[in-house]
This record gives sequence, C-alpha cells and structure tokens, in this order.
Amino acid sequence: EGKSAHSQIDVLIIGAGPSGLMAAYWMARCGVNARIIDNRDTKVFLGHADGLRARTLELFDSMGFQHRVLQEGSISTEANIWVPGPQGKLVRQAQIDIFRVDESPFHNTRLNQGRIERFILDSIRENSDLDVERSVIADSLEYDEDLGNDPNSYPITVKVRVLGEDDLNRPRGQGIDAESEAAGNEINRSNLLPDDWADLAPRKKPQKTQVETIKAKYLIGCDGAHSWTRKQLNIPVEGSNTDHIWGVIDVIPLSDFPDIRRVSVVNNAAGTILVIPRERGLVRFYVPVQTCEAGATDRFDRSKITPELIRERVQGILAPFTFDFKECSWWTVYQVGQRIATQSTKDNRIFLAGDAVHTHSPKMGLGMNMSMQDGFNVGWKIALAVAGTLQPEILDTYASERHPLAEMLLDFDRHWSPMFTDPKPGVADTKASEMALVARRFEDFADGWKVFYPASSLVRKAEYDDEFAFARHMIPGERVRPVRLRNHADGGTRWTTRALESDGRFRILVLAGDIRNPMQKQRIETLSQALAGQTRSGISPLSRYLEIHGRFKSPIDVLTIHTSPWKEVEFFDFPEILRPFDPVNGWAYDKIWCDDACMFDRYCDGTAYEKWGVDRVLGALVVVRPDQYIGWVGELGDVEELTHYLDGILVKKSPTDDVEAVL
Ligand code: FAD
Repeated sequence: EGKSAHSQIDVLIIGAGPSGLMAAYWMARCGVNARIIDNRDTKVFLGHADGLRARTLELFDSMGFQHRVLQEGSISTEANIWVPGPQGKLVRQAQIDIFRVDESPFHNTRLNQGRIERFILDSIRENSDLDVERSVIADSLEYDEDLGNDPNSYPITVKVRVLGEDDLNRPRGQGIDAESEAAGNEINRSNLLPDDWADLAPRKKPQKTQVETIKAKYLIGCDGAHSWTRKQLNIPVEGSNTDHIWGVIDVIPLSDFPDIRRVSVVNNAAGTILVIPRERGLVRFYVPVQTCEAGATDRFDRSKITPELIRERVQGILAPFTFDFKECSWWTVYQVGQRIATQSTKDNRIFLAGDAVHTHSPKMGLGMNMSMQDGFNVGWKIALAVAGTLQPEILDTYASERHPLAEMLLDFDRHWSPMFTDPKPGVADTKASEMALVARRFEDFADGWKVFYPASSLVRKAEYDDEFAFARHMIPGERVRPVRLRNHADGGTRWTTRALESDGRFRILVLAGDIRNPMQKQRIETLSQALAGQTRSGISPLSRYLEIHGRFKSPIDVLTIHTSPWKEVEFFDFPEILRPFDPVNGWAYDKIWCDDACMFDRYCDGTAYEKWGVDRVLGALVVVRPDQYIGWVGELGDVEELTHYLDGILVKKSPTDDVEAVL
C-alpha cells in the first residue's frame, strides 16, 4: 500500500447514491467544507431506480433542474390491471388514475437513477467545487463520545482506502445489483447521453493504493442497504428477507399487448408482472422468478437467473399476447428485504440516510424518493449547523421527522408487496379493488403530499383547534402546497416550488392581502417597520442571526404575495424592506408576487389564497423552512412570536438580544 495521509473536514458523506448526493447538494449550496466518497469506480448510468414521485420533482424544482427530468422522463397517469377473463384470456379489469391535478404541478415520472444522479451532480458543480471522490472505500470508523457535545470538535475519525492502479479487487458497488452488472450490463457511449460520457471512464487513480485518515465534525452514512456505517455503529436492523426473488429487465419490447406503454399489473395463473413504461422507448418488467424454499430465505442461486429466463417468464404471463425483445438495456435480480434500522443517528454527529435506514420492495417506486428526501432533510440541517447559523440541537429533528416515515414506508410495503406474489385461486377478481384501496390509503404519503412532520422547535403546531384559522391550509410540518403566482414586476408566472428556492434560507412569506384597503396597507407598513428594525431597539429580525458565510448576509429571505389585482397596484407601493435595493443589482424585483388570475396562463388562476386557506384581504405571515416545509404561521402583526420561533432555531449575532428588545 502507498502512503498514508491525515486531513480534517467539516462534513464527510459516505456514498454518492441518491441520498448522499442530495446531502452533498446542500453542502455545495451553503458553501460547507465537505467531502463525498464512494467505493464505485463511476456513477450509476443505467437501470436501478426509475420512479419519481411528485414531491421529489417539487424538490428538484426548488433545486433548479426539474425541467431536465420532464424533458427526458416518461409520465405515468394511470395504472391498469389485467386478469384472466371468463374465457381465461387476459382482460383489462381496471384503469386506476394515479395523478391528481390539484395537488402538484408534477406527476409520477420515470427516468433512470443515473440521469437523476447526473442532474444533482451538475447542480453541485454549479454551486461549488465539491466533487465525488470515487474508488475510495471507508474502512474504519472511530467516534469519540467525549467530544460529541462540542460543535467545533472533530469526534469522528474515518480511515479510507483510496484505491490505486495496484488494487485488483475494485468493487463495482454494493447492493443487490452488483453481480448482475458484472454479468454484463454493458455501458458504452451509444447507450448514454453525451453529458454522461465524461464520467464513463474511471477516474485516474494513484499508482498505489493509499490510506487516508479523515477527521470530521459530522458524518452522513448514505452507503446503501448494506450500510457499512450502520454496521460500524452496531445499529441493529429489524425485519428480514422475504422469500420472493424477482427479476427486473429494461427492454425495448416487441409486443402486441395494448398497455405496453402504460403502467400495468398483469396477473394470471402463471404469475404477476409489473409493466413500467420508461424513457427512450424502454419498458421495465418486474417478474417473479423464484420462490425460496421455506426457511432458506437468505439463500438463492442468483446464477440460475438470466435475461432469457426473465424473457420466458414474461412471455408466459403475457400470453396470449406476444412479447420479445432485441434490445436489453439493463437487468438484475433481487430478493425483497423489508428492513428498518432501529436508529438513524448517533449523538446527532453521525447520521444514516436512505437505504442505510430502510429497505423494501422496489415495486412501490419509493426507495429512491425516500432516500433523496432523507438526504435533503438531513443535508440542510447539517450544512447550516456547520455554517454556525443553525443551533445544533435542531439536528434532533432529523430522526423525529424522518424515522416515522421510514416506518410508514415499511407498513406500505407490507400491504403492497403481497399483491404481486403469485395469485391464489379466486384472488384475481378482487385484485383491482384491493390494490386501489391500498394505493389510496397510502397515496398522500407515497406521493409526498403530506409528510406529517411532528411538533419541534422547527415546527410550531397549533395548540388548539382553529388557532391558525387565518391560514387554514398552511399547516406547520407540511409542505407549502404549490400554487402558481404572478411576478409583480414583470407579470410572468411561476410555481412556488421554484420561487421557494432551496438555497439554505428560511423564508418569511408576507401574505399581504389586498393593499388597496387603507387599513391593510397600514398593517403592511407596520410589519415592514418591525422587519426593518425601525423600532425603539433598532434591531431587525432579518439581521439578527448569523449569516450563511460566503453565501447570504441573512439566513432569512422575505417574499411578499398580495391579492390586489395586478393592474391596480405598483411595485413601489410596497415598503422598501419587502423589495430591497442593492447598489449593483438594483431593486429586488423577484420579491413581490401577486395572486391574480392571468389570461395567458390557466394554472395562474388567482386561487393561491383559497388553496392556502388565507383571507384575501387580511393575509397572514408564514415561515417556510429551507426545505419548503411550513415551520410557523401567524398574523401579520405577530412579529414578536415570529422572532421567538426563529430564536429557537437560528444563532443570534448577539446572544444577549432578547425578543422584547426587537420591538
Ligand atoms: P445507494 O443508491 O445504494 O448508494 C449507496 C452508495 O454507497 C453506493 O454508490 C455504494 O457503492 C456506496 N458505498 C457503500 N459502502 C461504501 C463504503 N464503505 N465506502 C464508500 N462507498 C460506499 N426507488 C425508487 O424510488 N423508485 C423506483 O422506481 C425504484 N426502483 C428500483 C428498482 C430496482 C431494480 C432497484 C435495485 C432499486 C429501486 N429503487 C427504487 C430503490 C433505489 O434504488 C434505492 O432506494 C436508492 O438507490 C437508495 O439510495 P441510497 O443513496 O440510499 O443508496
């Protein structure tokens, strides 16, 4: 082995899959001194996860690249269920809508994991010079508990091996697909998009393998289902492998099955398959290929399963419809495991995210979504804590917010997976209604409409019914329901998912109501004076907290959304603090928005306040966290309570300032 080196870093991320990259995004956005390592030679290119839920696309919009997914992906709007009819021939039993127009601008979309990783990697590069260090394996972990309480200490020591040309046992990655990749999922320039070509060749490696000792303040273990980090911490997992082995194959199908380009479950005596249309003419098939013998769920002979065997299984189940393929872009075989780690953090210094915490059947299309949302949740909190902006105690909320969702994920899987196991006599008839019931029961959770984050310093819940009657549908702990608004300055329209950019800042939404009303205008003036610090104390809540160093002078941004008709008020009718002036960039034209119907854009229909349950004259005041979940709601005059809420989260420039002094 080559030389050994020592280094220090604020945040170390192990694993550059979907969850690790999401966490890394925040490090890049907030300018955190971070590193991300992965034992694979290259990124993922083909196959793997492919289903994106609407909430994930909303996050992508806030990160600035949702349009790339829409451009390349394939949208699924309904699920079809096929079962044997009276004559035994397959018939379409049901068409279940799987979209909701009123909840989100985005829908279930299919695009392979490799492209998603591409987009996140590009976004990371646009914001910093953080890059994934590949062929680097975490080998040992030590944690010094005595240092755990000092946020400036480096309690974590990780030894990594930086693989050199001399290393002959380079792992191709871990997880369920490692073997099948070795068995010949060929990746070359012809089946990749040009922007992935540069990543195709493994990076240049040192001549000799090197060992590096990295000391870190925080560690995020995003290292997948077999999480090395989790094992080092001796965190147990609960659950087990199920006895079903599935094949997955991505092909260009040659078939006369009518729903081959629609999501379908086909269920007959020969078994059940799931048909998932994908980008670039591909269709994915999930096929049961084997059932383990009782008591032998940890052992099955992977080598017996081949693309040919999967082809035959699909042909058998789809018959009498035809099925074949010439082009296979990727395939794998996996055993469903339903497992959950009992903990997702050690002392709020080491965190686990994604498959490291939860694994389940891929057929729900949720693993990557949940993993990315874990990485997103823990990422902004650690980034701001390291920046010194967020109080480190807030890191408690990672486990309290995400762990219950991991449990719900497994609960969903326990209800969903059995629907795909081999049919029992008489079950086919009830299949559609059963599936629809389960899908509906978990829909809000699966699509991400509702995440139910519990009360904490970050989430100020109502203490009694109707406490937040002035903003009935702005529920702390839930996401801001997306609406389309009109920019006051230029009249253009935008979804809130984009306007609430994921840049690390909390946002105060001033729902200003109708400022043509003189009393309302006066309320906005008074609020603006408090926000600007034009009070006895002269302290503004906007400049009260430590900056995000090198990025933003204040960790708080203010957006104003009013209901006056667009043509009846002017940009300059709003107090200056709501549209601040910058000597170089001029007035902040992107800060004032209007909830008014717009002739050229039918999505911008002037119903934002109604969807949010806010009075169109009186408005409200809302604080949105950096991840677009609602933290606090109040009335326009409640600046004192708002400051109390922020005081419980952010680090004050002057620790002795108390709220009363603000007003
Ligand atoms: P991973 O993607 O597993 O990434 C972990 C990374 O850590 C890997 O790159 C690994 O090489 C690296 N690593 C591990 N140990 C070390 C170490 N010691 N040192 C350095 N690096 C290390 N999810 C969906 O949401 N929708 C779907 O439609 C869907 N379909 C799927 C279909 C299939 C066939 C499969 C296999 C999965 C599917 N999933 C789906 C699940 C999804 O792929 C996973 O949930 C997701 O990839 C988990 O992301 P992650 O970042 O947590 O872990």
